[in-house]
Amino acid sequence: MDKYEVFKPAFEVIQKIEEAGGEAYIVGGAVRDFLSGSPVNDIDIATSEKPERIQEIFEKVIPVGIEHGTVIVRHRSVSYEVTTYRVEEGYEDYRHPDEVTFVRDITLDLARRDFTTNAIAMSRDGRLIDPYHGHEAIKNKKIEAVGQPSERFQEDPLRMMRAVRFASQLSFQIEKKTMEALNHMSHLLQYISIERIAVEVEKIFKGSNYALGLQLLHTTGLKKHLPILEDLDIRTNIPGSPLFGWHEIIAFYVIQYPQLSSGNFMKSWKLSKDTIKKTDQLLHAYKKYVGDKMVTSWLVYQLDEELFPSFTRLSLALHSQEKNLGDELKKIKAHLPIQDKRELTFQARDLLQLFSERPKGPWISEWMDMIEHRVVTGEIENEYEKIKEWVREWNPPARN
Ligand code: ATP
Ligand code: MG
Repeated sequence: MDKYEVFKPAFEVIQKIEEAGGEAYIVGGAVRDFLSGSPVNDIDIATSEKPERIQEIFEKVIPVGIEHGTVIVRHRSVSYEVTTYRVEEGYEDYRHPDEVTFVRDITLDLARRDFTTNAIAMSRDGRLIDPYHGHEAIKNKKIEAVGQPSERFQEDPLRMMRAVRFASQLSFQIEKKTMEALNHMSHLLQYISIERIAVEVEKIFKGSNYALGLQLLHTTGLKKHLPILEDLDIRTNIPGSPLFGWHEIIAFYVIQYPQLSSGNFMKSWKLSKDTIKKTDQLLHAYKKYVGDKMVTSWLVYQLDEELFPSFTRLSLALHSQEKNLGDELKKIKAHLPIQDKRELTFQARDLLQLFSERPKGPWISEWMDMIEHRVVTGEIENEYEKIKEWVREWNPPARN
């Protein structure tokens, strides 16, 4: 197979821009991952043309950040971020460049990029534009700032977190001068919004060399600016496997440090309610697993299927389980008598009918919960008559 196969549709996008008189290249992470033999995910394209021109050239264009020069081009059902060559000036507030200027020269655009590995452009015939020797850095497995590391970190301190993140993802070493700047400037991370930092932390824990990433967070001093994690021994208490997402990261620490809660993390890291919901479900299941010393059908019933991989990774991370729990969870799920309480053959209305003289009250849901639990655990069969018989025998006390 042609080694450029993954880029074929993106090359067609480039070709269209060229046919319209412009210039365009694949840039950033896609080129880096391709050259380092990693799977290529999102493909970003840089172009000499302004967003308005790109909107004319393509039929399906989503204007996501016109003022920064970015639009999304849809081509063969795939999205490409197409960004006009630009330079950025003045990072006074450590947040956004004060000014974005569009330029006509790709090498100027490459100069604003953070690391040499990320500052390579590829033309549609596979030719590389690589003024900072990023390809060489990839071969040597090095993360090296484009230009003066200290200036680049001063402009945007988030780049320090990105350096650590790439070390974790790619198992690359941070080059000496870049490392020195990182060690001296880690305190600047305090000016960066927690949301941007959170994205990088998540990627550090997910990287195949997360142990290196966590080590670097500690040695560089970046850790001091990571709420909650700053107080934990993240360097020696290393998870036994990578963790995919904040819900897994939080569960990993909350289980080990009783003073922590998912709510603490949510507040300090401004995480979404959905993340915390997932975290709490995961924690609940995991505590039950530890308590019962096994995976029970009730645990599996209560755990969303989408969290099975998280549960498995969490148990690997906590070194509590060597074998892969994923298959066990799936098998137990397949054999559950019901997947949802709506599948119970005996519902609340049946209970009411049976005890029609009794006033409605909380006893109904309490009894339905008991029925659900007993059916799931196999104590009662999910058959109308059997459940009815069991209810009669136990005769719910009239409570309100
Ligand atoms: P990923 O695989 O996570 O998408 P990526 O390298 O593509 O990695 P993005 O955040 O998608 O990272 O950014 C795309 C490109 O934009 C980078 O490769 C880099 O060239 C440039 N870039 C991104 N963030 C910065 C930054 N903070 N400073 C300088 N250049 C940046
Ligand atoms: Mg990217």
